[in-house]
Amino acid sequence: MYDLIIIGGSAAGCSAAIYAARRNLNFLLITADWGGEVARSGWVCNYLGFDRISGFELANIFKKQAIENKSKICENTTVEKINIINNIFEIIEKSDTEPKKWQAKSIILATGSQPRKLNLPGENELRGKGVSYCSTCDGPLYRNKRVIVIGGGNAGMESALMLKDICEKVYLIEVTDVLRGEKIYMEKIAKEKKIVLMLKTKPLKIIGENKVESIEVEINNKKQTIKTDGIFIHVGTVPNSDMAPKEIAKDKFGYISTNKLCETNLPGFYAVGDVADLPFKQISIAVGQGTTALLSVAKYLESK
Ligand SMILES: Cc1cc2nc3c(=O)[nH]c(=O)nc-3n(C[C@H](O)[C@H](O)[C@H](O)COP(=O)(O)OP(=O)(O)OC[C@H]3O[C@@H](n4cnc5c(N)ncnc54)[C@H](O)[C@@H]3O)c2cc1C
Repeated sequence: MYDLIIIGGSAAGCSAAIYAARRNLNFLLITADWGGEVARSGWVCNYLGFDRISGFELANIFKKQAIENKSKICENTTVEKINIINNIFEIIEKSDTEPKKWQAKSIILATGSQPRKLNLPGENELRGKGVSYCSTCDGPLYRNKRVIVIGGGNAGMESALMLKDICEKVYLIEVTDVLRGEKIYMEKIAKEKKIVLMLKTKPLKIIGENKVESIEVEINNKKQTIKTDGIFIHVGTVPNSDMAPKEIAKDKFGYISTNKLCETNLPGFYAVGDVADLPFKQISIAVGQGTTALLSVAKYLESK
C-alpha cells in the first residue's frame, strides 16, 4: 500500500510529486497523459521564470522534473474509480480487460477540467488555430484583429471586455435573447462601441483551412457568415471529477469542494488545481496548490 497516490501528471500533480519525492514519501503518480491542459495551452507568457514558452514544452519540463526527482510513475493510465474501504483508498484503472488496482492512505486528485465544447463542425480541428477556450492566455495574440466570443454568461462577457482593449472589434454571440450574469458587465457591454452584441444568434460551424477564417451562424432562421480571426468559446468547463469517491462533496458544477489546505470533506483526500472549486484556473495557481496539498498530506500522514 502507498502512503500517497497522486492522480494527474500536469501542473498540480507534478508539483505535488516533486515535493513528495523530496520528502521521501512512499508514493505513486498515475496519469493519463503528461501536461493535460498545460500542453494544450498554446503559448504561455504569464508563468514565472519564462518570458514565453509553449505549453507543450512547459509540460515536458514538468514531466522531466517529476521523473528526475525519482517519482514512481504509472503513465498512460486512466483512473476510473476511487472507493473507500476501511479508511483506505482503492484506486481502479479504466480498462477493458483486467483493471489494475492500487491502495493508498491518502490521495491528491489533480485531474484538471476540460472546456465545455460546443461540438460545432470545425471546432476540434481548429483548436489552437484560432479556436480558443482561454482569452486571458490567447487574447494578446489577436492584437488589432477581429474576434468572436461565444457565450453570454459572465465568462463570455468578461472575455469580450478584456478583448476589446486588444482587438479591433469583438462580436459577442449569445444563443438566447439575454445576457446572463452580473449587471455591471451588461452595462459595460451596452456602452462599449467596440463590442457588437449579437443575441438570438446560433453558431453553426467554424470555417477555415489551416486557421479560423469565419463562422456560420443562424439569426432569425437565416444563415449568415461572419469573417473572424479568432473564436473564443466560453460556455462553461467540465471538471474531471467523476472518478472521485461517491462520498466526496462537490459544488453544483461537479468541482470538488476544498478548503485553503486543499482538504476535502474526506480525511486523507485532497483536490488541487482545476478540478477543485477555485475561482481562477491558471498554471501558477495549480502549481502552488500541488505544493500546498503535499505539505498538508505530509502533516496528515505524520498524525496517523
Ligand atoms: C487553451 C488554454 C490556454 C491556457 N493558457 C494558459 C496560460 O497561458 N497561462 C496559464 O497560467 N494558464 C493557462 N490555461 C489554464 C491552465 O492550462 C490550467 O489552469 C492548468 O492546466 C491546470 O493544471 P492542472 O494540473 O490542475 O490540470 P491539467 O493541466 O488539466 O492536468 C490534468 C492532468 O490529469 C490527468 N488526468 C485527467 N483525468 C485523469 C484520470 N481519470 N486518470 C488519470 N489521469 C487523469 C491528465 O492526463 C493531466 O495530466 C489555459 C487553459 C486552456 C484550456
